[in-house]
Amino acid sequence: MSKIDFSMENINQCLCSKCAVQIESQCVKDKQKIMLLITQQDLDSPMRMDAERVPGVYCTTGEAICKDIDTKKVCKCNECYIWKEYGLKDFSPGRYFCRDGEAI
Ligand code: SF4
Ligand code: SF4
Repeated sequence: MSKIDFSMENINQCLCSKCAVQIESQCVKDKQKIMLLITQQDLDSPMRMDAERVPGVYCTTGEAICKDIDTKKVCKCNECYIWKEYGLKDFSPGRYFCRDGEAI
């Protein structure tokens, strides 16, 4: 795991859900539906939001589980608060964490 926390706060900051790379992915849509259900049920969300359920914060969880993403589209990480806050441009990889794995 990288030094970026897998927290609800960071999940909410992440721009992956709005990224063209995965916006058409049925697998991602299905995971987002489950996330919404968990949030609406007001259960202990952070406990139930494990990395397999969340189609985002790949900078800390590593490569996407969903394989129907299109990594030819443009990554939005460089517009993300977390990317700026942690200086992820200096990490390897610096973007496209869903394709290339976590920022280390
Ligand atoms: S890591 Fe970058 S390319 Fe991948 S879904 Fe998130 S914003 Fe898009
Ligand atoms: S840097 Fe990219 S993967 Fe990490 S939280 Fe931001 S948008 Fe998501």
